[in-house]
Amino acid sequence: MQPFSIAIHGGAGTLVRGMMTSEKEQAYNAALDRALSIGYSILEKNGTATEAVCAAVTSLEDCPLFNAGKGSVFTAQGTHEMDAALMEGASRNAGAVALVSGIKNPIQLARDVMLHSQHVLLAGEGAMAFAAQRGYETLPPSYFFDAFRHGQWTSIKDSDTVQLDHVKGDHKFGTVGAVACDCNGNLAAATSTGGMTNKKFGRIGDSPLIGSGTYANNQTCAVSCTGSGEFFIRGNVAYDVSCLISYAGKSLTEACNEVVHKHLIALGGDGGLIAVNAQAEITMAFNTEGMYRGYRHSQGYHFIGIYEN
Ligand code: ASP
Repeated sequence: MQPFSIAIHGGAGTLVRGMMTSEKEQAYNAALDRALSIGYSILEKNGTATEAVCAAVTSLEDCPLFNAGKGSVFTAQGTHEMDAALMEGASRNAGAVALVSGIKNPIQLARDVMLHSQHVLLAGEGAMAFAAQRGYETLPPSYFFDAFRHGQWTSIKDSDTVQLDHVKGDHKFGTVGAVACDCNGNLAAATSTGGMTNKKFGRIGDSPLIGSGTYANNQTCAVSCTGSGEFFIRGNVAYDVSCLISYAGKSLTEACNEVVHKHLIALGGDGGLIAVNAQAEITMAFNTEGMYRGYRHSQGYHFIGIYEN
């Protein structure tokens, strides 16, 4: 039988161990496990990798602990501008949105861009017009308000600083993502984010950019990234992993480790990624202290973790 698997992340970063209370750790683990179970149960019922990654990311977008959907960070204007992308490995079809506001689940809008537009990436007002045409409701800012994230923003809003989703002393990326291999050996990758606190000038990160933060190709792998977006864009990180497999004959693990621990570091970038191939093998690599992450495999492996060990 073709094995199947799903992996998810909820951001990487410098997560100071001493600052994580056991209640908080439990809340993160429970949210990751919930998203994993939702995605895995779709794969178990012969659902597609695309359905599984969208459902897992939707669950993470609905959880305020992560910087995506409901938990999105504040922009310099005190608003929320979200980015998301989805790619399928069989067809290499993709859909993405950038700078959308008031959309509960940007990953679903990205999927609609893939399925119902002739385009790959829609941004800002145009993406919002497309959402309206597809019947999306625009939620009020109160849905996205989170006192903790608001505090993060007010501490830097009068400066030119942009910040990754951080908690005093921590420096973390709360972007969410999922990759899956279904029972037909088809792959998919999905990523969703609120970007960086205090971002302005229409800043777009790597998450919605195909090849940077999100990529899938059945011949190589499906990848979802988290980290300092500008470096992931410059390094074409997700596609770089795929290229090392297709052009250099590397294994999934070798390719991920080379990109995260060599190529990205040479550029000065920090963060991590999750990846899966058509044999349902999974790799999770990060060059930060931790990455919120988890996976489930049809051969019975199940893992949830935050720190390196
Ligand atoms: N990569 C995201 C961005 O730069 C941030 C993150 O991973 O949390 O928008």
